[in-house]
Amino acid sequence: MGLQRERLGVDGSQISIFDGSRFVFSESSWTIVTLYRMLRRYGLSYLYMRKGPQTMLPRFLQLYKLQDRIGTSSAANLFAKEFVAGINRIQYNQGNGINALAGMVSLLPTIDGRLFRIKGGNRLLPERLIAAANASLHQGLRVTKVHRTTSRHFELHTKSSRDDKTTKSRRYAAVLVATPLELTDIAFTGFEVPHMPVRQYQTTVTTLVKGRLKPAYFGVEALPKGEYVMVTEDAKTPFSVIGPQKILPNGLRIYKIFSRQPLEGATLDAIFANLTILADREWKAYPLFRPPERFPPFRLTPGLYVNNAWENAASAMEMSAVAAKNCALLASQYLQKAFLDDGGLNSGFKAVTGAKSEL
Ligand SMILES: Cc1cc2nc3c(=O)[nH]c(=O)nc-3n(C[C@H](O)[C@H](O)[C@H](O)COP(=O)(O)OP(=O)(O)OC[C@H]3O[C@@H](n4cnc5c(N)ncnc54)[C@H](O)[C@@H]3O)c2cc1C
Repeated sequence: MGLQRERLGVDGSQISIFDGSRFVFSESSWTIVTLYRMLRRYGLSYLYMRKGPQTMLPRFLQLYKLQDRIGTSSAANLFAKEFVAGINRIQYNQGNGINALAGMVSLLPTIDGRLFRIKGGNRLLPERLIAAANASLHQGLRVTKVHRTTSRHFELHTKSSRDDKTTKSRRYAAVLVATPLELTDIAFTGFEVPHMPVRQYQTTVTTLVKGRLKPAYFGVEALPKGEYVMVTEDAKTPFSVIGPQKILPNGLRIYKIFSRQPLEGATLDAIFANLTILADREWKAYPLFRPPERFPPFRLTPGLYVNNAWENAASAMEMSAVAAKNCALLASQYLQKAFLDDGGLNSGFKAVTGAKSEL
């Protein structure tokens, strides 16, 4: 589709781990020095951890043995509380109690440097997919209800806004819902909705600021190189991670901060000099991972599928992509069968399936 990758973050932005009062680990621009510091502080835990995600799929079932190996010594405990917890706070803003698959997904970027975003913005991917599928896209509409008719078609009821009094509806042969059902207000009628375990979501606030980190806030005279600050599991910091995004010609930097609550101006003033707050946004970002996870079904009723059903296994765009393909295959099987049966649905079915896909 002509999309290009670009590296994430600022080149040379080495990580440091802050425990709320001091830096307990700092990466060096020399790999050998970083490795030495890792081994000195965390023993062999880091090497064991690298092995897991590298061979994740074929060795997934050996995960628990791996955990046994890294989980006993005091160095391993430090490693879990500082390094692994720091990564989990970055990826999911949660502690080490998350499920094993989410934990592995969380750790993957640390052992594979090929972290990238699409040049021009990740939104180009769905835009190009929609263009490639030649689908009709209806934007600015809220789906309020999906109703299965007695002829087993689906009526999609939409409004242009929450307060809009008028509802429009259109008929479709199959429907894929691609949003966490807990965070929306779509009613499903005309069939018995299966039991849906309700998932809680982690609040993450992203704040973009311009400024410089104040060394004094971290109890040092000079900051470790790189200025990428992760935090330990027990750190009582108002933020979960601070990552530099860009260095400006005047020496100031743009930082992206993740936190669990909105950051007050006074808090940011304590952390940054020459502060300008550029933007902030609160998200219900990802499920609160609480093993054993209970999953809603992918299929609500034949012909109606929910893409987001396994987000509480691990939340990532790739997970959505795999789930989307599953849903598309299920819908395709359903449509083919209904079409071949040619009596499964009434004659209107052909007219509906003859229409283009709509998103
Ligand atoms: C701050 C943050 C950082 C993240 N970082 C990463 C990352 O680096 N890498 C990664 O892989 N994943 C990341 N994720 C997770 C990733 O964004 C999610 O896993 C993914 O977006 C889930 O996709 P989805 O399609 O299920 O839902 P969403 O992406 O939430 O899409 C749902 C869409 O449906 C729309 N919608 C909801 N209700 C209705 C309705 N009634 N009618 C019409 N439209 C409706 C919403 O407006 C939204 O556009 C991050 C998430 C957050 C919040």
